[in-house]
Amino acid sequence: MDCFQKFYVGNLPVKASRDSLSKYLGLHATPYLRSSSWVELPQDQSGKPMGFAYVSVPHHMANHLIQLNNTKFQDRRITIQLIHGRGRPQPFRPLEQSSNYAMQSWVGPRNRRYGGQPISYEMVDIPSDKKVPLIDVAVNLANKIFSLDLDFVLDRAINAGVQKMILTANTLQMSDKSVMLANQHPGYLFASVGIHPHFVEKQWNTKNIDIIKRLVALPEVVAIGEVGLDFHRYYSKEAIQIEAFEKQVELACEHQKPLLAHERNSHEKFIEVLKKFRGRLPPIVVHCFTGTKAEMDTYIAMGFYIGITGFICKEKAGKQLREALKDCPLDRILLESGAPYMIPNAPITSLDSVGRSLLGKCQPSRNEPCTLPVVAQMVAKVMDITVEEVAKAAVKNSKRVFNLSHSTDETTLPL
Ligand SMILES: [Zn+2]
Repeated sequence: MDCFQKFYVGNLPVKASRDSLSKYLGLHATPYLRSSSWVELPQDQSGKPMGFAYVSVPHHMANHLIQLNNTKFQDRRITIQLIHGRGRPQPFRPLEQSSNYAMQSWVGPRNRRYGGQPISYEMVDIPSDKKVPLIDVAVNLANKIFSLDLDFVLDRAINAGVQKMILTANTLQMSDKSVMLANQHPGYLFASVGIHPHFVEKQWNTKNIDIIKRLVALPEVVAIGEVGLDFHRYYSKEAIQIEAFEKQVELACEHQKPLLAHERNSHEKFIEVLKKFRGRLPPIVVHCFTGTKAEMDTYIAMGFYIGITGFICKEKAGKQLREALKDCPLDRILLESGAPYMIPNAPITSLDSVGRSLLGKCQPSRNEPCTLPVVAQMVAKVMDITVEEVAKAAVKNSKRVFNLSHSTDETTLPL
């Protein structure tokens, strides 16, 4: 039995025909595709095209179609959204009546089924007077949890005001992928490369060090990280963590590229390592800071930057951080979603309608960069200033730290 998947294709040029669209989508490629795919161009009462199409394709073509989201068809960037799950072709429900999530799963070789996480095709729509421009300085978009619907995740982030993102890496594979994504979205996505303390036990070897060295030199790589020390979980032994951290700090000094540093229960050793490089250090960002006020004060005194994630929104766990942040100079604050982790799950009553709607766009256990405004709002509340002031300072700090000011202007975003 053949299975089909249905898509909404939007922002079509007026002159688009069924024929030209199906050719563009690759549905003319084989006799089987020609006979099994289906394109419908709805018209209004006067017979004029409505600027969108419904497309039904055999399910093995679905991934191909998603890849074409936001690409140019006859000078227009088209949007392609999955309408609902697998099944035989049937009359389409209007998009707004369908559920927010569609189960996306693929049947691969030997009938193995994989995927299966829900894909949300809901877009973010914030009134322009409520939207503040932001930069997400640490987001794990190279994480495979985003591999099936990255375009939608990017769409939502852009519409939420996130103008640039720095993609962190934890492993060699993620470093490679971050660089690849930065190349696909120049001026919007930037790469960070490095091996996280959790993974140095497995990955810190001569071959990989050489690869990291080559990646660090690339212009699209704007930071080194996540690197650092984690004496909380101890996935790698202390000695190898320290060795890998020192070598990666050395690389950051050589290239004068900022460090996205991970520190957990290792404050003293972390400081000890960095002190060895005093006078040569590039900007240091203590990413996802969750420490004490005394630790924050030490970092500030050393000239470091503090990365704030959704941790600050946690009602109980975030209390200490909220207290510490009250005295943090505004010129040291950077905002990061840390997605897919660190959902800013503030008590629902403390969120405004924008915050609630942004959190509603995420799957239950997967954070997305589109929630960064929620973090900015909480920082504003804690510091008793406006969210615009927080955003302005954080964007300025991000551009200075990561040297982003030379990159593409915000007006040329990929949407
Ligand atoms: Zn981290």
